[in-house]
Amino acid sequence: MGSEKKRGVGRRAVLLGGGATVVGAAVLARDELRRAWWRLPGTEKERVDGELDHKGADWSAAARANWRRADRPDDFTIDRVVIHVVQGSYATALKVFRNPGHGAATHYVVRKDGHVAQMIRELDVAFHAGNRDMNERSVGIEHEGFVDRPQDFTAAMYEGSARLTAGICARYGIPVDREHIIGHVEVEGTDHTDPGPHWDWPRYMRLVREASARLASPTPPGRPSAKAAPKLR
Ligand SMILES: [Zn+2]
Repeated sequence: MGSEKKRGVGRRAVLLGGGATVVGAAVLARDELRRAWWRLPGTEKERVDGELDHKGADWSAAARANWRRADRPDDFTIDRVVIHVVQGSYATALKVFRNPGHGAATHYVVRKDGHVAQMIRELDVAFHAGNRDMNERSVGIEHEGFVDRPQDFTAAMYEGSARLTAGICARYGIPVDREHIIGHVEVEGTDHTDPGPHWDWPRYMRLVREASARLASPTPPGRPSAKAAPKLR
């Protein structure tokens, strides 16, 4: 968990503050023009309350104060997944993220049984990393449990989270590696330690790679499902 740092006017705000003359000039890269276009009023993507990005998640809306409306990946590139641990239960995470006074929330919360709640759309910026740039470029995932209790990180939780992360990586073309899938502790300037020393990164990354491979080559119709196939380990 974490709250968004207050910072001065960002680069993108300055770009827009320049107005039509700046945008009209041929000084901007095509990519930046596209971003500027998407930042104009009236061009935001439509969203439906309760619409999900992760199939199988349950929608449970975070308080509006704990995230910022955006149009990712068109206004900000999404290239990071940030792994958190709640320091509490799944129910606690949902409760505090629904509290507008909390000032922070993640896009997703994963329960010990692998169940996933989506609380913020991926196109919006969740306040979870304590770092504005990282919030704008990332999707945040909380995991039920405590950093000093390795038994909280169940097989079902690792599996459910890995499927979620693999889907996020597939949606935005994020490489499945430790440069792009990081812990909150690895965010620049943070004083948070989650997911902590007991989070099994080699195991988690293997599961994400396996889930990514399944997404890349789904079982053809008429063939035995991946579940029925013998495990090759
Ligand atoms: Zn955290």
